[in-house]
Amino acid sequence: MTGETQTRTAIVLGAGMVGISCAIHLRKRGWDVTLVEKTKPGAETSYGNAGVLSRGSVLPVSYPGMVFDVPKILMGKTNAVRFDLSGLARAFTWAPSFLMNGTKARNRKISDGLSALVAHCVQEHEILMEEAGAASHLAKRGWIKVYRSEASFQKTAFEREMLDKHGVRYAVLEPEDLAKLEPNLEPIYVKGLHILDTASVDDPGALCAAYADLFKALGGRIEIGAAKSIGETGDSATVQLEDGRPLSAENIVVAMGPWSANLLKTAGVSLPAFEERGYHRHYRAEGNAVLNRPINDVDGAFVIAPMAAGIRLTCGVEIAAFDQPKTPRQLEAVLPKAREAFPLGDTTEDEPWLGRRPSLPDSLPAIGKAPCHDRIWTCFGHHHIGLTTGPISGRLLAEMMSGEKPIIDPKPYDPARFR
Ligand SMILES: Cc1cc2nc3c(=O)[nH]c(=O)nc-3n(C[C@H](O)[C@H](O)[C@H](O)COP(=O)(O)OP(=O)(O)OC[C@H]3O[C@@H](n4cnc5c(N)ncnc54)[C@H](O)[C@@H]3O)c2cc1C
Repeated sequence: MTGETQTRTAIVLGAGMVGISCAIHLRKRGWDVTLVEKTKPGAETSYGNAGVLSRGSVLPVSYPGMVFDVPKILMGKTNAVRFDLSGLARAFTWAPSFLMNGTKARNRKISDGLSALVAHCVQEHEILMEEAGAASHLAKRGWIKVYRSEASFQKTAFEREMLDKHGVRYAVLEPEDLAKLEPNLEPIYVKGLHILDTASVDDPGALCAAYADLFKALGGRIEIGAAKSIGETGDSATVQLEDGRPLSAENIVVAMGPWSANLLKTAGVSLPAFEERGYHRHYRAEGNAVLNRPINDVDGAFVIAPMAAGIRLTCGVEIAAFDQPKTPRQLEAVLPKAREAFPLGDTTEDEPWLGRRPSLPDSLPAIGKAPCHDRIWTCFGHHHIGLTTGPISGRLLAEMMSGEKPIIDPKPYDPARFR
C-alpha cells in the first residue's frame, strides 16, 4: 500500500465494475473504505455486458449525421436503436445535447477524453486480474466488427481516422482473413475490422465478484444496503440507507451506474444522465462450432460473444422509461440475423436479461467532485464502456481524492462541465 499516516475514510456507493474499482484503488492508497451495495457485487449492468475491453472505443455514441437518422429511429426502422414512447418525456432533457455532440468537430474533441481512458484499459485490468487470481477470464484476441456490404464498411472511414489518430492498432480483414480467424462464421461478410489491442472476458459477473473479493482481501468492507439519500455537513458526509441506518465518512463516492443521478439529486446535484437499455441472452453453439472472440455485426445490430455460459447475444440501444418492463423486441429481431452469421442453437435461459448503460450526453463519464460539494464525488456515466474503463476510472478517482498526480488529465470528465 502507498498510504499516509492518517487514515482517511470513504464510503463507495455501488459495487459494479466502476464502484469496486474505486474501492480497490482507494484501499490500496490506505483509505478505510466501506463499499455499499444494494444487492450483490457485479450483479447488475456489469454482469450482463458483452465482455469487451474495448481499447478502440474512442468515439462517442452520437455519431456524425445521427440527427438525420432520428426519423428512422422514431419510426422503428432500425434495430440499432429502439425508441419507446415511455422514454419521450425525459428525452427532452438529454437528447438535444446528445445529438449536438454528433458532429465531426465534437466527436474529435470528445475522442481525446475517451482515448485517454481506454488507452489504459487492458493493462489496468491485467493488474487487478493478477492480484485477484482472475486472469483465466481474459482473452487477448481483439474483437472484430463485420460488415455485410462494402458501402457500410466505407462508412467507417472516420472511425479509422480516429483509431489512427489515437494509435489504436487494427487490421482490415477480407473474407478469407475472417475465415481463418473465425472458421465457424458464415461467409456473409465482405469486410471486417479487427481491433487488435482489445481484449475480452468470458464472465464479467465472475470478474466483478473476484475484484470484490480482492477488495475484501485488501481489508475493505462490503455492506449490503440501499442508499436512499446523501449529504455533507462540515467535516463529514452521510448516507441514509433505506433500512434506516445512517453511515458517515469523510468522503462519499457515488458509483451506482444508472442509479447514480437520482441519488445525487438528494444532495442537490442535477446531471443530465439517461440510460441506454440493452438486452442479452445466451445460446448453445450447435455441433462443435466455436467463436474465438466477440463479433459485432454492424449491419445486423448485434454482438455475439463467447462466454462461459454459452454464446451471449447482445443487441443495440433501447430508450424507454427506467422501470419500463422488458420489451426485448430488438433481441427477437436480431436473432435470425445472428443465426445467419453463426450456428446458434437453443437458448439456455427462460428470459432475456435487461440492463441499463449509464450515459451522459457527451459520452464521457462524470469522474470528480460533485458540483458545489467538497466531500461527495462521482464516478459514473460509462455508457457502453464501463466494463472496459472501470479500473482506470477507479484509479483516476482515487488519485484525485488522495491528492496524487493523476495518471491522466481529469478535466474532460469533470462533473461540473454541464453547468
Ligand atoms: C447489452 C450491454 C452490453 C454491454 N457491453 C459492454 C462491453 O462489451 N464492454 C464494456 O466495457 N461495457 C459494456 N457495456 C456497458 C457496461 O456494462 C456498463 O458501462 C458498466 O457495467 C457500468 O458499470 P457501473 O459499475 O457503473 O454500473 P453497475 O454495474 O450497474 O453497478 C451499479 C451498482 O450500484 C448498485 N446500486 C443501485 N442502487 C443502489 C443503491 N440505492 N444503494 C447501493 N447500491 C446501489 C447496483 O445494484 C449495482 O451493483 C454493456 C452494457 C449493456 C447493457
